[in-house]
Amino acid sequence: MLPTELLTGLSAARSVTVLTGAGISTDSGIPDFRGPQGVWTKDPNAAAMFTIDNYVADPEVRRRAWRSRREHSAWTAEPNAGHRALVDLERAGRLRSIVTQNIDGLHQKAGSDPDKVIEIHGTIWHVVCLTCGNRTTMAETLARVDEGEDDPSCELCGGILKSATISFGQSLEPEVLRASVRAAQDCDLLLTVGTSLTVHPAAGLVDLALAAGARVIVVNAQPTPYDTLADAVIREPISQSLPVLVEAVKDGARGR
Ligand SMILES: [Zn+2]
Repeated sequence: MLPTELLTGLSAARSVTVLTGAGISTDSGIPDFRGPQGVWTKDPNAAAMFTIDNYVADPEVRRRAWRSRREHSAWTAEPNAGHRALVDLERAGRLRSIVTQNIDGLHQKAGSDPDKVIEIHGTIWHVVCLTCGNRTTMAETLARVDEGEDDPSCELCGGILKSATISFGQSLEPEVLRASVRAAQDCDLLLTVGTSLTVHPAAGLVDLALAAGARVIVVNAQPTPYDTLADAVIREPISQSLPVLVEAVKDGARGR
């Protein structure tokens, strides 16, 4: 049960920015990478595949990466009650933006307006050429992998292709970063959902929201470095607590 006082206060929120991390997608069967049971926590060597220098230098790393992309859980995963609650928040006119660290596209699949979703770590649904920047869909590139190209190259320039995600050692897209900064500074409530708030610059968005006077609510199973600065910390499972939080905000939208 979430505190009544907290829920009553939420009805005043007019512009909510939501920062989401792996925790919102684990109920959809997408594995977490950095959490206590995370893929990279349990197997640090798996992280090497996601380092840009290794990816560019070693064709075997790329072949391994393409095999792993073919089997990615995102292709079959369905959004859960947590993703759907954020669609409700948008329909109530209270959502400013969703800033997500996830690459799985589940917010859009749930029905969130793609223009309101800022994917700071990119998306696995697209492929980008590291030389000329040409973007294609993952589906058409995986079709080439299925046809036997184990390390497909750019059809325009022959360059190395990679999922349009941010690997270790790669900088965030400046435009995407600016949009996420604006979303954090231009809200009266920042909800952080399923993120450990240890990876920058995502975590720094909390500082920006606090500095701009927003309330901050942390929803995460494990402690985060921002728990003491937040107005409330919620440990309950996301797919249960997020719909309750969103209903509380919508009470305000109904003019109470
Ligand atoms: Zn190219």
